Parts: sequence; structure tokens; C-alpha cells
Amino acid sequence: PPDVEQLGRATWTFLHTTAAYYPDKPTPKQRANMLSLLHALPILYPCTWCAQDLGESLAVHPPDVRNRTALSLWLCQRHNEVNEKLGKETFDCSKVDERWRDGPAD
Ligand code: FAD
Repeated sequence: PPDVEQLGRATWTFLHTTAAYYPDKPTPKQRANMLSLLHALPILYPCTWCAQDLGESLAVHPPDVRNRTALSLWLCQRHNEVNEKLGKETFDCSKVDERWRDGPAD
């Protein structure tokens, strides 16, 4: 079976980075593909209990693919749900761009 921690870090890196560079004005095709990507995870993600919980979260909180800011916030909130479940610190979602796009201000 995969290393769930390493897989998780890699997947969050991919998802947060993809959200950070998602367009401010996505085309209908870009929105549809982002929805497909996110809805595929509960079916294909190779950690069955992770996938199960993600599916339940997506059902309650449909992905907000309107624009980059909305998607980044939505994803941050989903990640925080997992953080809470695992007893990890929650992340300040006002800092997603700093973490995943811009880098720290100096
Ligand atoms: P990670 O949680 O992997 O985070 C990586 C980095 O992201 C952090 O160092 C931080 O800089 C940043 N970050 C943290 N929180 C946020 C946030 N809210 N928004 C933006 N950036 C943030 N593991 C399980 O054991 N059980 C599960 O049920 C489970 N479900 C998962 C579901 C999904 C969809 C994914 C992708 C992963 C899941 N994992 C699960 C793995 C788990 O979330 C972690 O990836 C893993 O435990 C490693 O944690 P970490 O402390 O290294 O940091």
C-alpha cells in the first residue's frame, strides 16, 4: 500500500499549487476540468479511508471553481478538515497565496 503521509504531502502540494495558479477568469472548459479532477479523487485516490471522507466532504461542500481565490479558499478549508481529523494544527487560509504562490514577503 502507498505511504499515506508522503502521498498526502505530494497530493496537497499538487492540489494547492494547481489552485494557486488557476485562472481568475477560468473558461467553462477549465472549470469543467477542475470539477472533474476534484470529483475523481474520491473514486481514484489510493488511500481508501481518505477517499471515503473526501467524498463525504465534497457532497457537503461542492467545489467552488468560479475563480482562483474561491478555489484556493475552498481547498484550504477541505485540507483543514483533514488537519482537524488528524489532530494537526489548522492552517490560516489568508496565507494560502503566500504559501503556495507568492512565497513569504521579505
Ligand atoms: P500536510 O497536511 O500534507 O500539508 C503539507 C503542507 O501544506 C504543510 O506543511 C503546510 O505548509 C500546508 N498546509 C497545511 N494545511 C493547509 C491548508 N489547510 N491549506 C493550505 N496549505 C496547508 N491522512 C490520514 O492519515 N487520514 C486521512 O483520512 C487522510 N485524508 C487525506 C485526504 C486527502 C484528500 C489528502 C490529499 C490527504 C489525506 N491524508 C490523510 C494525508 C494528510 O492530510 C497529510 O498529507 C499527511 O498526514 C502528511 O501531513 P503533513 O503534516 O506532512 O502536512
